[in-house]
This record gives sequence, C-alpha cells and structure tokens, in this order.
Amino acid sequence: MSEPFVIDELQEAVLDTVRRFNAEVVAPVAAELDANSDPEAGFSWEIVEKADEVGLRTMTLSEEWGGIGADSVTTAMVIEELGKADIGVSVVMAQTLKLAQILQSALTKQQQDRFIPIFRDDPRGVLAIGITEPETGSNYFIRQDVPFHTKAEKVDGGWRINGMKHFISNGNRANVYLIFAQTEKGRSLYEGSTCFLLDRDTEGFSIGRVHDKMGERLANNSELMFRDCFIPDEDVVGEAGNGFQVLIDFFPASNAYAAASVLGAATAAYEQSLEWCRNRVQGGKPLIEHDGITAQLAEMHMLLDVARTYVRKATWMADNRDLGWDPALSAFPKVFASQAAWKIVTWASELHGGSGYMKETGIEKLLRDIAAFLHSDGVNRTLLLKASRMIF
Ligand SMILES: Cc1cc2nc3c(=O)[nH]c(=O)nc-3n(C[C@H](O)[C@H](O)[C@H](O)COP(=O)(O)OP(=O)(O)OC[C@H]3O[C@@H](n4cnc5c(N)ncnc54)[C@H](O)[C@@H]3O)c2cc1C
Repeated sequence: MSEPFVIDELQEAVLDTVRRFNAEVVAPVAAELDANSDPEAGFSWEIVEKADEVGLRTMTLSEEWGGIGADSVTTAMVIEELGKADIGVSVVMAQTLKLAQILQSALTKQQQDRFIPIFRDDPRGVLAIGITEPETGSNYFIRQDVPFHTKAEKVDGGWRINGMKHFISNGNRANVYLIFAQTEKGRSLYEGSTCFLLDRDTEGFSIGRVHDKMGERLANNSELMFRDCFIPDEDVVGEAGNGFQVLIDFFPASNAYAAASVLGAATAAYEQSLEWCRNRVQGGKPLIEHDGITAQLAEMHMLLDVARTYVRKATWMADNRDLGWDPALSAFPKVFASQAAWKIVTWASELHGGSGYMKETGIEKLLRDIAAFLHSDGVNRTLLLKASRMIF
C-alpha cells in the first residue's frame, strides 16, 4: 500500500517525463493552438501521439495490457503536472487515463479483450464518456427524478439508441466511449438508465457540433448523435437498468482528477505571479516586498497546498476504499480546487496590473482555462448539493 503524500521513485520518474513532455511538446504550441478561432483546431493529434510515444497515454493500463498500472494518486499527479502546461491537454489525458482505468475495472474479460486493444493499439486512441445532454445535466449528479432524453429501446440481441449528448470532452476525437441512455421508460435516470460501450465506427452514431468554448481550447467538446444506433447486449456495462451504479462503483477518483487539472493551471498562475512580483518594481521596490502583495502570494500558496492535499487524500482513499470511503470525496475536491483556482487566477491577473489583461503574459489564457472547471464535472453548487445529500 502506498503512502498518500510521499512521492516514490516511480512517481518521480513519471513526473520527470511529464515535465519534459510539457516543456518540449506542449508549451511551445499551447498559445498558438489556443488562439485558433476554429474550435476544433485547438486540439492537436501530435500532442496525443507524443504522449503515446513516452507512455503517458496508456499509463493507467496494467502491465498485462501494456501500461504501468498507475494508481489514482500517481494519475492525479500526472494530470496536475499536465495542467501546469495546458488545462486542455490535461483534460484530454485525464479523460483517457480515467476511462482506461474504468475499462479494466468495470468490463467483463470479453469486453476488455474487444475494447481495450481498440484504444491501446491506436497511438491516437483517446476515450470519452457521454452523460450530459441538453435537457439533463445536473439532474444526473443530484439524483433528480427525471429520465434521460437519449433512449435505448430493447430489440433482438441488443439495444437501439436514439437521442443526443452534448458538451462531451474528447467527444469528436475518441475511438471508444461509455454512453449512458435511458432503458426503462418512466423510471428516473438513476433507476432506469444503462451504461453502454460504444465503438466510434458503430452505424447510427455520428459527431455533431464541436462547441466553441471560452477556454480549455486544446481540448474539444462535442455533441454525440444517435440515430437507430444498434448496440449488442454484450456491450452493456454492468447490469442493464443500473447504469448509475457503474458511476458509483467505478468512478471514485473522477472528481479528484478534475480537481487535479484545475490545480495544475492554478499552480502555473501562482508561479508566474511569484516571478512577476519578484521582478516588477513599483513604489521603489519589487512588488513582493510590499506587505499586502506578499500576504496575497502566501494565501495563494496555502490554497494550492490545501487543494493538493485534498486531491491526494481523495485519490488515495479511492484506491483504498476498504479502509473507509467518504462518498463526499467524489464531490468536494473539485469544488474546493476550482474555487481556490478561480481566486488565485483573478488575483494573479490583478498582480500583473494592466499586463494581466494583455494576451502577452498568458494570465488571460489561464483565467479563461480555469473558468471551465466552475462548470465542468458538475457545477460547484450541484456538487455541494450532491455532497449534502450524502452527509445529511
Ligand atoms: C468544459 C466542459 C466539459 C464537459 N465534459 C463533459 C463530459 O466529458 N461528459 C459529460 O457527460 N458531460 C460533460 N460536461 C457537462 C457538465 O458536466 C454539465 O455541463 C454540468 O453537469 C452542468 O449541467 P448543465 O450544463 O445542464 O447545467 P444545469 O444542470 O442546467 O445547471 C444550471 C444551474 O442550475 C443549478 N442547478 C441545477 N439543478 C439544481 C437544483 N436541483 N438545485 C439548485 N441548483 C440547481 C446548477 O448548479 C447550475 O448553477 C462538460 C461541461 C463542460 C463545461
């Protein structure tokens, strides 16, 4: 059993790889990709292929499947480190690393044999999960008594899906998906929905609009369209009608991974602010020598430290649930990290004065990027409601 807060040699080696990857592959192109006006063009296959070359893309696969079997603590460290260079790249990889873990834990042996090689053997293989749809967002997180509009009707040998999902990270790029649809008429989505495996090439499945986003532009989000899309019985994950249980059983670290992405970006904002305040002279001395400013930098440091500690705790507990799992850890870490990150990046913008508003310092990009996590992986208020129902 690994310790929650100690970085071991393997973790250090993996993080070194990520730091090199950030410096050589992501940092040189991030601002240029972000500036593309076409929402699809922010995404880079070259980044994914390079992540594959250095073993990052598949690192959560077990050794048997060709990875290193990275645990949740290590995975969150990697996601955080990637977030320091670009939050979109962090999200592309976080979705992939997380869902690769779930393919191994939630799928039957036959399902693994069929779907894991599709993902593993393609250097461009990334993964996506489709839950949200135009009419059903927070409802899923807080167990409201409404069904999905995306319906799967039972037919001979499988299910016929009709409907759509939207906002899906990697939606237009993935080659394997987990899709949630309503399979029991009149039941709520947490009682009558089902989780399906989907191969990108399935007939009746297509990609809709790629959303134009304020930030996080190196990741794509898209609609997924289903028109009489047939999925065989063998591709149901878990029990038909019990899709919600798949999320409860196999996604304990998901919220902390989201927290790690935004934490990485907030760390970049803090480090850049520290550097700026050491060099920028006003009132006859560097900004950092002004008490109000140095206290604010200290507060940024503290918020990052607490958010990181929370992510470590949640990911370690996710891998050691037999030692006592607190379900609120599937809601709180992202709320705390994104609120802290939002404070940090708005302070960072202010500390940079007028330059904080100009594209040239990169703080403006961080501000747009960090805003994504006030909304994604559950709106913060929604997650607080989810947690409150678990606690009270
Ligand atoms: C960048 C990004 C990436 C995403 N990636 C994915 C993905 O990969 N897969 C996926 O399935 N989804 C994804 N989403 C969708 C995301 O999870 C949803 O947008 C989010 O859950 C909110 O749902 P909604 O947009 O329908 O908002 P709504 O549910 O309409 O919420 C609107 C507001 O109402 C509040 N609210 C809702 N219900 C209640 C209530 N009962 N009581 C009080 N307040 C309430 C919410 O907190 C929020 O403030 C992504 C979203 C973004 C922005």
